[in-house]
Amino acid sequence: MEAEQVEIRRSARRSRTLTVFREQGRLVAVVPARATGQQVDDLVPGLVNRFLAKESRGRVSGGDEALHERAIELAQRYLADRLRVPLPPFRIVWAANQRRRWGSCTAATGQIRISDRLRQLPGWVGDYVLLHELAHLVEPNHSARFWELVAGYPQAERARGFLEGIEFADNR
Ligand SMILES: [Zn+2]
Repeated sequence: MEAEQVEIRRSARRSRTLTVFREQGRLVAVVPARATGQQVDDLVPGLVNRFLAKESRGRVSGGDEALHERAIELAQRYLADRLRVPLPPFRIVWAANQRRRWGSCTAATGQIRISDRLRQLPGWVGDYVLLHELAHLVEPNHSARFWELVAGYPQAERARGFLEGIEFADNR
């Protein structure tokens, strides 16, 4: 895996503990204001690695069949209760030539394509992308009703922020 940039932020409010989190897709390490450069060098990489390991758990993986299974699972868990009609049959496949979008859905044919870049995302973000495209099967546009469906996934807002952060970083 490529080393990710980590923004080091010093906080006067923190006296001892360090913490790592993501903000708009970027890694941020908050360290005590008084920490020395040496302490930061010693402690931050380990924390970042632990954070990344935790984040990568549950990544979307496997072939088209595994992708389809995951989509069905997610639809049952997060969409079914909010749907007025059952989800129509659909086909979902990995797409290697989809660099600019994470996923696409052609509601008329029930065809969903998922960029294989999604394999690199944390599982909870990848799941959001799948749910987003699944919701397009019944709501082709980003209507209020569409967002109502997507909101059944508790981490929808966070995942959108995460993806926007990546797009922001990519376009700089
Ligand atoms: Zn959409």
